Amino acid sequence: MIFELTVLGNGSATPTYFRHPSAHVLNVHDHLFLIDCGEGTQIQFYRHRVKFHRINHIFITHLHGDHFLGLVGLLSTLHLQGRTVGLNIFGPADLIRIIDIQLELSDTILRYPVQFYPVDPHNSKKLLVTDQVEVTSIPLNHRVPCTGFLFKESSRERNLISSKIKEYKIPYASFDSLKKGDDFHSPDSTIIPNALLTLDPPKQRSYAYCSDTCYDESIIPLIKGVDILYHESTFLDELRERAKETYHSTAKQAGVIASKANVKKLIIGHFSARYKSLDPFLEEARLTFNNVYIAMEGEKYQTD
Ligand SMILES: [Zn+2]
Ligand SMILES: [Zn+2]
Repeated sequence: MIFELTVLGNGSATPTYFRHPSAHVLNVHDHLFLIDCGEGTQIQFYRHRVKFHRINHIFITHLHGDHFLGLVGLLSTLHLQGRTVGLNIFGPADLIRIIDIQLELSDTILRYPVQFYPVDPHNSKKLLVTDQVEVTSIPLNHRVPCTGFLFKESSRERNLISSKIKEYKIPYASFDSLKKGDDFHSPDSTIIPNALLTLDPPKQRSYAYCSDTCYDESIIPLIKGVDILYHESTFLDELRERAKETYHSTAKQAGVIASKANVKKLIIGHFSARYKSLDPFLEEARLTFNNVYIAMEGEKYQTD
């Protein structure tokens, strides 16, 4: 069962030749979730072979252009491709005005329904529950209202122990209820406890996306112990004053948050255009957290 993150953009607001603005795709059991949609995200879909017509849920963190300017283009492309399946968009309340005015003035009526869900930037709330995943908002501390997102895999089914299934002659028709945790009731009224027939399901995996934000420890309880944390790292620590002024973070600060939240893996991105090499980001974040990776465009990341 797949749980995999693809990074499509690791840059920040100013465009550079080598970096695209923010866009992440999380694949949970072959269901695709798009998080942020900076300018050029569609090109990145093609370049990195993301089957974007399979995206049914889009999450936008905030209304700085490097996080949403690709969205209306994507909506238009899906329209041109003849999509009929509904699309769910979660984001700041005003985002729907931006979408509506662009579609209205270009006289476009989308062929598919869009359901928009405004996100409260001040309080953490459960936004979505599907068979694959549960999504919770993470209020962030940025210059404009901004929300991160925590994706937690839905609980998975218990694993049948095939030798025991044979031994107790369990019929196929009972497999589903055993996988859900029920005991087996035989026709002669004997009860075989579930624990004898199944093993615990695999652990639920999780991914937290935290961009953009200044250093803020209030997110720690919400991201505690996640398998993968993406935390923005716009600057190196020598520019921590600049980071503070602009409500961004440094690589060192991202490492501190990862360490204090006891996450398993940290991925850093949203790098300022002023930096040519990203190696110093890795070196700096490693001073405060060991298991850290640079968000490389086109790269896929799994849980450890
Ligand atoms: Zn940004
Ligand atoms: Zn921003």
